[in-house]
Amino acid sequence: MILVFVETEAGGASEPSLEAVTFARDLATRDSGELAGQPIHAVVAGELPAAAVEQLGTHGVSEVHHAIGDAFSAYGGAVWAGAVEAAQRSTGAIAVIATGSPRGNEVLAHLAARLGVVMAANVVGCQPPFLVTRQVVGGAVLEEMQLDDRPAVFSVAGHAVEAGPAAAPVTATVHEFSPEVAAADLVARVVSTEPGGPDRSGSLRSARVVVGAGRGAGGADGFGPVSELAELLDGALGVSRVVTSLGWRPHHEQVGQTGSRISPELYIPCGISGAIQHWAGCASSKTILAINTDPDAPMVSKATYAVIGDMHEVVPAINEEIRRRRG
Ligand SMILES: Cc1cc2nc3c(=O)[nH]c(=O)nc-3n(C[C@H](O)[C@H](O)[C@H](O)COP(=O)(O)OP(=O)(O)OC[C@H]3O[C@@H](n4cnc5c(N)ncnc54)[C@H](O)[C@@H]3O)c2cc1C
Repeated sequence: MILVFVETEAGGASEPSLEAVTFARDLATRDSGELAGQPIHAVVAGELPAAAVEQLGTHGVSEVHHAIGDAFSAYGGAVWAGAVEAAQRSTGAIAVIATGSPRGNEVLAHLAARLGVVMAANVVGCQPPFLVTRQVVGGAVLEEMQLDDRPAVFSVAGHAVEAGPAAAPVTATVHEFSPEVAAADLVARVVSTEPGGPDRSGSLRSARVVVGAGRGAGGADGFGPVSELAELLDGALGVSRVVTSLGWRPHHEQVGQTGSRISPELYIPCGISGAIQHWAGCASSKTILAINTDPDAPMVSKATYAVIGDMHEVVPAINEEIRRRRG
């Protein structure tokens, strides 16, 4: 049996967790040895919305192990790993998989330490049984790692596969359980959360035009002209990670390996150098018009067209010309 640690949100299972389930199901389907035909189970700590159970069944999960009790209501890496460990020990799962989210990686790292096995993070492929290919150095390098321990423990990088329903959907059975909790496991837990802003990454991913802005914007107040250009072209604003890390713009606007992957007809990156992690999210844009002061920036050399200049002069000039032509 393959056990997948699944993260949930109000509407059901998280999309990256469904990707991990799809990855696990694919292993059981492809392998002709140890993994062949293995059932897929899920383990959930905290909230388990009814929609998540239904989605998991659709994606081929036959059983959901749900850790219940006060200790599991709020996220804690150690205490949730304890729940995954209890589920693994009681089921004898030969592999434990999660999505490579911050929580997925943290829970699996705790789990691997508890079980005395190795863990591979951010896996993008696997030749069964368990020769995994994983991203390292921020995705710039791929390495292969043979996992001989059982259970094999690894997380699946976001977007490594597309989540998809099983050919033969099932109705998942839920087993509630209350594993023992050590006081030490409760030392670090989430005590409060604040709602973030609205997530508009969906419209970014489907936009036909994306205007991008990076460090060249110069600060949180440097996005007026690029936002206006996005509006004039009926497109969306996308930004680099520097911009979200500095708190200039919200994370749902980030393009790249750890943000949204976009494939618009036209991408206009302004003041973005084109680091490999950013390129990972925009490489399938049909046409790229880079605006950058540096003629040697990677984004300039990869772009279809480039304007070498200051985005604070070039972008307002484009906006003015569009407005003039539209009368
Ligand atoms: C694990 C990991 C994951 C990552 N994920 C992502 C990701 O998802 N998305 C992402 O974007 N990055 C990601 N990064 C970060 C990435 O490596 C780069 O640091 C980041 O993309 C750089 O952002 P930038 O291009 O805005 O800034 P910089 O690299 O500092 O480039 C700024 C550019 O702006 C130009 N410029 C400056 N002023 C102006 C001006 N006035 N007008 C025009 N041009 C100007 C400069 O010539 C330069 O080319 C990740 C890194 C790691 C390690």
